[in-house]
Amino acid sequence: MSSNLEDLYREVILDHYRSPRNRGELEVPPATKTDGFNPLCGDEVTVYLQVDPETDTIVDIKIQGQGCSISQASTSMMSAAVKGQSVDEARKLIRAFKALMSIHEHKLEGESDGSDLASDLEGVRLGDLEALQGVVKFPVRIKCATLSWNTLAQGLDERG
Ligand code: ZN
Repeated sequence: MSSNLEDLYREVILDHYRSPRNRGELEVPPATKTDGFNPLCGDEVTVYLQVDPETDTIVDIKIQGQGCSISQASTSMMSAAVKGQSVDEARKLIRAFKALMSIHEHKLEGESDGSDLASDLEGVRLGDLEALQGVVKFPVRIKCATLSWNTLAQGLDERG
């Protein structure tokens, strides 16, 4: 990866870290509240989800939490990516983001190129989210990046 691209990626991450999107809380119920914790780094995240049962759309999402810059930036980016999306779209994004990260992890560990995971990425536009791949230098930090996505997935599963 060229250093220019890496600089750009770092900017995107810093922007989300300094100006996190969708911070706050929602009333529970009707919203649901899901906590996530990454013991490897001490990152914490709480995801408030408001899903419209008629349209199965994430009409609102709010985030609280604290931790390292990667976990907090990833949480902000996740909230911006799924707000207004259908639950199906959100699940697709979760799968694609986790595939992106595990392909990256395989590369960091010098294993396969992860092409078996590539189908989860097909046809999904991750946009800025790809920036996280550029700043996660060690496999252990990938847990920081995926924390909010796992918490979102749990929130969607527990809904209703
Ligand atoms: Zn972390």
